[in-house]
Amino acid sequence: MDNRTVKIDPKFLSAQPKKTSSDAEHISRLRPSQSPIAISLSRCPTWSSLDPLKFKGYWDSNANAILLNNGSTAYFTFNDASVRPTLSGGPLIGEYIFEQMHFHWSVDDFTGCEHVLDGHGYAAECHFVHYNSKYESLETAVGHPDGLAVVGFLLETVDAPNPRFDRLVQGLEGIQKRESVMNVTSESLLWMDREDLQIGNYVTYKGSLTTPPYTECVTWIIYEKPVQIGSEQLGLLRQLEGPDSQPIERNVRPTQRHPPGHSVIYVKQVRSKL
Ligand SMILES: [Zn+2]
Repeated sequence: MDNRTVKIDPKFLSAQPKKTSSDAEHISRLRPSQSPIAISLSRCPTWSSLDPLKFKGYWDSNANAILLNNGSTAYFTFNDASVRPTLSGGPLIGEYIFEQMHFHWSVDDFTGCEHVLDGHGYAAECHFVHYNSKYESLETAVGHPDGLAVVGFLLETVDAPNPRFDRLVQGLEGIQKRESVMNVTSESLLWMDREDLQIGNYVTYKGSLTTPPYTECVTWIIYEKPVQIGSEQLGLLRQLEGPDSQPIERNVRPTQRHPPGHSVIYVKQVRSKL
């Protein structure tokens, strides 16, 4: 055997270059805060490199659902556990399962939203609550920083009714009394199907539930452009009765202070090349 020293190419000795983390991973490590918050868009870092958000099986599943007046809000959920709309993409790692939708509102058209973008207030805010599919239930997911993803839509009142809210409105008409329930279908979610869902700008940050126990387990996604709803349609929310059979006047948590080092990302979605 020849006893030569074998020269090894240095590139085989150096460690493999570290895989750079994705934008979604970066967002997942942001410091959480209490929610809701007031956001100044011009102060947020703007990103356009995130994957598009993917909403699967929400309004077009033809599935049975219920709409409930639980005494504090109008609450929508599918009553068949096998119907599981899913949300993925954007700032999310993995898939999140839709659990329920509910509303926040107030007595006027400007203080009914929880999140405030550039100082604009709106009549209401709708939340789509999802839990991370790696956990077995929403209750388990709440115990983890990556447990929940909540999509928020700001609702702006206009004079003319929005026909896409017709199915939801039919349900709201039947749940004026506290603890009343209406059988509805996935068509109550038709109004969320708009072009903005795929290409609209949104803000995302790590925050908390806006109702007790205010756990910091939520990746928030708030669309910038409000959804228009007729004044009379929105008025049905204000007629829902809470405890004491009085209309629920306000179910909005005030905006919370951002802690130092907290970050909100302004995401510009780009049309996917499909
Ligand atoms: Zn909410």
